[in-house]
Amino acid sequence: MSQPATLYVVATPIGNLSDISLRAIETLKSVDLIAAEDTRHSGRLLKHLDISTPMQAYHDHSTQEQVDKLIVKLQQGINIALISDAGTPLISDPGYPLVSQARQLGIRVEPIPGACAVIAALSASGLSSFQFSFEGFLPAKTHARQAILEWRKYDERTLIFYESPHRIVASLNDVRVVLGGDRPIVLARELTKTFETFLSGSVDEVIEQVNADSNQQRGEMVILVQGYQKPIDEDTIPHDALFTLQTLMDELPLKQACALAAKITGEKKNKLYKWAIENK
Ligand code: SAM
Repeated sequence: MSQPATLYVVATPIGNLSDISLRAIETLKSVDLIAAEDTRHSGRLLKHLDISTPMQAYHDHSTQEQVDKLIVKLQQGINIALISDAGTPLISDPGYPLVSQARQLGIRVEPIPGACAVIAALSASGLSSFQFSFEGFLPAKTHARQAILEWRKYDERTLIFYESPHRIVASLNDVRVVLGGDRPIVLARELTKTFETFLSGSVDEVIEQVNADSNQQRGEMVILVQGYQKPIDEDTIPHDALFTLQTLMDELPLKQACALAAKITGEKKNKLYKWAIENK
């Protein structure tokens, strides 16, 4: 019986070729076959890395029969690395049917992590990274695009979309129509490449910058939208003010702690006193 093989899901650079990992290089060299979204495109990367592993095309239009053939190869003990044109396979890229079928059949699937535009954009955007929702590409038609945005309007997580240059102006306009011109956004463009830019500000401000400079409508881009922020309730006390109040309450009589906390934080003394009485 043949040794069980592994399907490696290998991330490749999204621009800067130095972003390939050592493990990715080792894996691409050592596997028996590379399943690539576009063999001509990946051929250039492999040539640059001096890798001569055979390649086979695997893309979104691959038939079930082609997936089955790759699965049979894995079952025969042939190690395969899956790569896409750029970044992490399956992230708005081909690979899902192959990986899910391999897992269902108990074939070992191993990620070789690396570049991914959504993560690179978020990590340097300055928007909240605690919770986020990656939405893939926005639909091409305005009606469907607005429907998606409408659906996410009150989502408090950072929203992240991939977008193509020829739709960026229309998409940003739809963001303005549905989420309003004041919502903070970031447009991350040409990440890891020579003309990498991050435009940030309100939707209105970013649209103005994009309209003023046609270069901002070129290249690869990610739109990041700050999550919905609930209007601040009059009675809500910000976390840092509460922390100050609690620290003072541990050391001082209640009234004195509230008076001092009000002075330090600028919050109303009565509001702090009410909270202190309820929580002492
Ligand atoms: N699998 C890839 C990844 O891990 O990011 C994404 C592939 S998807 C087909 C291509 C889209 O990803 C582009 O249209 C763009 O929205 C985004 N993207 C890819 N590379 C980028 C880059 N260098 N700068 C900004 N966005 C990029």
